[in-house]
Amino acid sequence: MGTPILIIIYVLSGIIGLCVGSFLNVVIYRVPLGMSLAKPSSHCPNCQYKLKWYDNIPVISYIILKGKCRSCKKNISIRYTIVEVVTMLLWLCAVLRFIDDSYIFTIIAMLAIVAFIAVFFIDLEHQIIPDRFNIMILLLGVIAIVSNIFFKDNSLLIDTIPWQQRLAGLVFGGLFFLIFHYGSILILKKEALGFGDVKLVAACGLLLGIYNLFIAILVSSIIASVVLLIVRKKKNDKKDTEYPFAPFLIFGMTFAMFFGSYIVNWYISLF
Ligand SMILES: [Zn+2]
Repeated sequence: MGTPILIIIYVLSGIIGLCVGSFLNVVIYRVPLGMSLAKPSSHCPNCQYKLKWYDNIPVISYIILKGKCRSCKKNISIRYTIVEVVTMLLWLCAVLRFIDDSYIFTIIAMLAIVAFIAVFFIDLEHQIIPDRFNIMILLLGVIAIVSNIFFKDNSLLIDTIPWQQRLAGLVFGGLFFLIFHYGSILILKKEALGFGDVKLVAACGLLLGIYNLFIAILVSSIIASVVLLIVRKKKNDKKDTEYPFAPFLIFGMTFAMFFGSYIVNWYISLF
């Protein structure tokens, strides 16, 4: 692909990524509360001030307003800006990482990132994973399989994960976490892992394939152990508080989506 076209793609991905991040803030706030995404228009949760278009420009409005509501001056959560910037950065990373491999997987990865960020923040705050995001991830996996079959002669349209790996990711990832889910209820008499996590792992298994899924679970388990150890120590917690696991899973899945194939190829090269 020519350099001028690539520059246009990067600039567009960055700008659209910021706007999608802005929309994601609405999704993260409203979907768990069962609110409509269209109505009412964005307003301050404190004083109900209706945001004008110039209060709603990603990142820039936050800086101009110095992080405060224009009307009541109450602090606006920095999370809104974080979501916008993270969406933009991950979209740019997706273009950088996948555009030379597969155009279709570049778009699939960008859409997966949208679902990943929504699940990360919703589970962190509400300890639920709305089904629509798991379905979205699952559908992206199906699209990847279908496009791999449909465009099998065009290497820029397919990606390198064979459908067998994807199906294995769905079945084994789902089964493994299902056993873990019911096992913890039977043995520990509590839900160590929510059913939403089971569905998330199954859907991501289909999207990323069994090898990437394995790496993702490994990474998320390690990070979760370290983070929860620190959090529990700081809070002086007696191990009975439940913490959301999906944010760690999402971190692992994102890591594996970007770097999984490098790790797998390196591992294979050892033999
Ligand atoms: Zn206000």
